[in-house]
Amino acid sequence: MFTATSYSGRTVSLLNNADRAYIEANDGWYCQVCKEHLQLKKGRKRRPHFAHHPNTACPTSNPESERHLEGKALLYRWLKAQGAEVHVEAFLPESNQRADLLVKNKNDTIAVEYQCSTVDREQIRRRTALYHSIGVQVLWVMPYDHLRRKGSVVYLKEWQWEAAYLGHSSELRDTYLQRMPALFYFQPPSLFWTAHLNAYLSPKKAHARFIAHRLPPSTLECVRTPATVPREMQRSALLIYKKETRYGKRPPSTPFSTIVQAQLLRDKIPIHLHPPEAGWFLPGQPWVNESPVLWQSWLFLHILSHFNRQTFISLQTLGTAKQWLSTYLHLPVTRARILMDEYLRLLVRLRVLMLHADDTFTLMQMPRWPQSPDEGFAMDQQYAERLCAVNDSVAPRTYFPL
Ligand SMILES: [Zn+2]
Repeated sequence: MFTATSYSGRTVSLLNNADRAYIEANDGWYCQVCKEHLQLKKGRKRRPHFAHHPNTACPTSNPESERHLEGKALLYRWLKAQGAEVHVEAFLPESNQRADLLVKNKNDTIAVEYQCSTVDREQIRRRTALYHSIGVQVLWVMPYDHLRRKGSVVYLKEWQWEAAYLGHSSELRDTYLQRMPALFYFQPPSLFWTAHLNAYLSPKKAHARFIAHRLPPSTLECVRTPATVPREMQRSALLIYKKETRYGKRPPSTPFSTIVQAQLLRDKIPIHLHPPEAGWFLPGQPWVNESPVLWQSWLFLHILSHFNRQTFISLQTLGTAKQWLSTYLHLPVTRARILMDEYLRLLVRLRVLMLHADDTFTLMQMPRWPQSPDEGFAMDQQYAERLCAVNDSVAPRTYFPL
């Protein structure tokens, strides 16, 4: 680490020139999180840093590689040069976390985590949720050599899906293409790569638009900005997975997959003939282990069952569905709710549902089940076209006159 607190209570950073003289003059240091003693290490091979005792029980201590220290220092310098208020290894007592870098802007606070080691999905989920609970956005940045890429395809480990950044805006005015999740990779000393995930391919693969930013002139704001994906590129990317679901292998067998396929078969729908309303990439998809064709088929049939009894539905109507979805997908209820919300908006974009001013939805067209994979894929293509339309924002009612 670069930071420590002296026994007289001053917290210092080795990256801050103003602290240099004080650090030289003092020799007792402790960690803000666990209060254990820290040792200042000034070896020849590695840059100076503070270290916990090897047997420490500190929750924030993992042996830091030189790469991690180096990256953190470079990113710190880059952020500092933008004139932002930046804290290295900022301790957040509200959530008892230490952010590698914490950037405070006029409108938001962003934690930048340089994740060099492999972690598990649950850890990323928990830490992201903790940040969000105190109103902090988090950017998980990976070293460039974590990027596994072939053309426009990025290969992802489970935890890397979880690290995808969903942006800071949930503006309804955003179009489908403006809300794609992104992954960040740092290539020292001065290249920053963003992979804007724009289509789901399989549990291990996504389609992505890659952008290389040179630091500087690119700022944090630049790298966080959603990429624009050309409409035609987006349409064909979405259809790669849809084609696979029509003509390819059945989805891997999981307990949830069995439930959904049994339910579809009760309506005499084999999985290849699933509703064309299911299987679309949504911003929240990186949280979900299951294929979109499965969870969306399940949810779509559930939504339709309400329209057998009533004309209007709302998010409240779907309270039970939210609970089931959270159980089936092993997601916190808050996330299941966001997924449902995203899915309802997708159905509005597809012009299956109409959104009204009081946040209720009505059915615009009676769905039709495809009779063959060819017919299903033709319907998928029409929907892909609608999704990638330029003016597909859900919010302004001018697009959907009541
Ligand atoms: Zn500690």
